[in-house]
Amino acid sequence: MIINGQKEENRNMDTNIVRIMGVQIFKLGFDEAFMKFVKFSKGNKLRMIFTPNTEMVMIANKDKEFKNILNESDLNIPDGYGLILASKINQLEIVGKIAGIDFMTKILEYCNRTGSSIFILGGSEGVAEGAIKGIESMYKNIEIKGSYHGYFDEQEEYHIIDKINEKKPDILFVALGAPKQEKWIYKNKSILNVKVAMGVGGSIDVWAGLSKRAPKIFINFGLEWFYRLIKQPSRIKRMMVIPQFIIKTYYDKIFNR
Ligand code: UDP
Repeated sequence: MIINGQKEENRNMDTNIVRIMGVQIFKLGFDEAFMKFVKFSKGNKLRMIFTPNTEMVMIANKDKEFKNILNESDLNIPDGYGLILASKINQLEIVGKIAGIDFMTKILEYCNRTGSSIFILGGSEGVAEGAIKGIESMYKNIEIKGSYHGYFDEQEEYHIIDKINEKKPDILFVALGAPKQEKWIYKNKSILNVKVAMGVGGSIDVWAGLSKRAPKIFINFGLEWFYRLIKQPSRIKRMMVIPQFIIKTYYDKIFNR
């Protein structure tokens, strides 16, 4: 991890990157961020795309390894209104929220247009297959290279990596929840034969038809998190970090940390 070396220096000079509580976020709009993906998909080394939200930034605050991994990413899109609020409070100029599921959908449309291939890793037994079915029904031209569930042990991991590498998908979607998916991608990035690996979390449950995206009205008012909370009250514990995040944002600003 070249955190204090050249790579970090280059990143500090990248005017498209801002830091929220030490986590690098790209302040690009959706289309510009997507152009980066297109470039990555034509390259010859694995590029990592992550979708940090408020919860992930708070986890990264306690988990240095996770923070370093997020900061090694090739593209971190802001997937949470908390981050947009922090950007406004600190005049960081993030253009707006980019929902991971919208970015994934745009990637799928691109794959459909270009005949690119995908592999999905993650979810409970049958969920990745369900997501594949959902995707196939919408995008006939995508080449599906395979899927694997997300509850595997370390021994199985080698078999999964072999399976992915045998198929050489262009894009690997990893849904193991954060921070597991980002750590998994980072740990295996030098041995995975894919062009882009993206952490997609619960998006595959939506593609599999197990959970629904919030209605437009919730999305437009920045209340997608609230809809998910109503649908899945067990998320309350995870969401308690949101007020903590806002308090910390103001505290850091006032005390100039
Ligand atoms: N998941 C998995 N393996 C794990 C933990 C989670 O495959 O060890 C899957 C889980 O079944 C779900 C997805 O990861 O399909 C996203 O989980 P989570 O709800 O934590 O993510 P979020 O909704 O916040 O993106």
